[in-house]
Amino acid sequence: MRRKLAAGNWKMNGGNAELDDLRTIGERHSAAAVDILICPPFTLIAAAAQIAGSISIGGQNCHAAASGAHTGDISAQMLADVGASAVILGHSERREDYSETSDEVRAKAHAAHAAGLIAIICVGENLAQREAQNTLDIIGGQLATSVPDIANGENTVIAYEPCWAIGTGLTPTTDQIGGVHDFIRARLEKRLGTGAGRSIRLLYGGSVKAGNAAEIFAVSNVDGALVGGASLKANDFSPIISALEVSANAS
Ligand code: PEP
Repeated sequence: MRRKLAAGNWKMNGGNAELDDLRTIGERHSAAAVDILICPPFTLIAAAAQIAGSISIGGQNCHAAASGAHTGDISAQMLADVGASAVILGHSERREDYSETSDEVRAKAHAAHAAGLIAIICVGENLAQREAQNTLDIIGGQLATSVPDIANGENTVIAYEPCWAIGTGLTPTTDQIGGVHDFIRARLEKRLGTGAGRSIRLLYGGSVKAGNAAEIFAVSNVDGALVGGASLKANDFSPIISALEVSANAS
């Protein structure tokens, strides 16, 4: 049984005042039947970890090296040191803005695992790739290179995030989401074995909100969501968490 996960990616948003939303989520969902993770900017991780209660706190990126001359970067060990338990890796904004490759993502995932962090590895096609019907080739290639051989349900989560759905209000159909999630599951089982491959949680990400969460959570092999914009405010994120709890209780 995979425990469902509602993960929030605050991106480059939020200051101390926004920790109130985190506190509210913690209070409202203190006995949640699902895991809740919030990934604020680096600057808030230590403070967030202090008030998080049962919510886990994560980073949005890390360097592949443990330490050294990398001005402006943060290591996985540093994230763990201030209370993070997970890190998002290979988000499409990083693949695009910083030309991050899947080889780099895998190296970062190794660093995350060495620091005891869960690596949330993002994969997803862009609109041109979707329209050219190359979605599964792209996802298959990203998975093959980004995911380390030692990945399992304890140390790794995969987030399927079609780039064209992130922050746009567009979402794939539930059939499209199901098709990609079933494909990812099959690829993981083939490569890692049924034990590890079946235990890794698969999140959908891309314009998830209160109004579409329940139908997305009913799709096969969707174990939760990675949520951007709608994770910033407690009143937006809370109904998504509640919808995931309903789906957890039903399964
Ligand atoms: C994301 O940033 O990972 C994301 C899915 O964003 P949004 O929910 O805003 O589309």
